[in-house]
Amino acid sequence: MKKVFLTVDLEEWYDLEYLSGFDLKSSGVEVIPRIIDFLDMLDELGVKATFFAVAEHTEKNADIIREIVRRGHEIACHGLDHKLLYEKGDETFREEIAEAKRILERVARRPVIGYRASCFSMDRGKLELLRKAGFLYDSSKITFAQHPLYRYLDLIGFEKVDDLIYRDGEFFEFEIPTLKIQKYSVPISGGGYLRLFPFSLLKALINKYELRHENFLIYVHPFELTAMNLPMPGGLKAASRLRCLIGRKRNLKKLRKLILHLKSKGGEFRTLGGERGIWLSSVKGGIPV
Ligand SMILES: [Zn+2]
Repeated sequence: MKKVFLTVDLEEWYDLEYLSGFDLKSSGVEVIPRIIDFLDMLDELGVKATFFAVAEHTEKNADIIREIVRRGHEIACHGLDHKLLYEKGDETFREEIAEAKRILERVARRPVIGYRASCFSMDRGKLELLRKAGFLYDSSKITFAQHPLYRYLDLIGFEKVDDLIYRDGEFFEFEIPTLKIQKYSVPISGGGYLRLFPFSLLKALINKYELRHENFLIYVHPFELTAMNLPMPGGLKAASRLRCLIGRKRNLKKLRKLILHLKSKGGEFRTLGGERGIWLSSVKGGIPV
């Protein structure tokens, strides 16, 4: 294992697609302020991560955002809100990413150069708009044909410069890894699967993954990093309820074991953008910093 990218989609638990039809904001239960234990764990393990923040939540969580920055992590953008990109027209998208970038840079007091689309709903047209808006990288590509929400992001014209990393001019795309088993793509890098799989199975899948890959990327969400009680709405499908709640209690411990395991395999943790993208300059061709 060479490079490992630990990423957090810094969103509220009620931003989850299958909870978006309910009014849960009024419950007053919020998970973003609860990530301090996770930040402490990263300090202890000496790991820096990239936090893709939903801009509409950042002003009220300004202290958390600044704490993340103070501890040496990267703040990137997860949209102005958490709605799917294919529900947004180009003009709306253009305005929203400019506003989200402004808000995040004002709160974080750092340049924001990276983006991840909610539910990986990026398409090529929006990727070009992102580039024009001054972002230097995106991390929304996932190959997972069976998932009803994810789309295929075409990277025609991009050159593969490293495992999971693609480049076109000065713009980079970081792929979310999946493990191909027969015709299925198993998303071993995050979401419900990471919580569902016992650690022994996860280790076996990573061993299999390593046969074809050098780099790895993990994605997690604040609601998966705290065991606090989340009031599930009445009328929510049993499957969605399970998907949201399963494996949360021990997840932080599991993540700790996973990080230690990846380190023992030689994995070097780094943020996607690095110090203003400086590490990207070591990738073939580089980018100006
Ligand atoms: Zn998200």
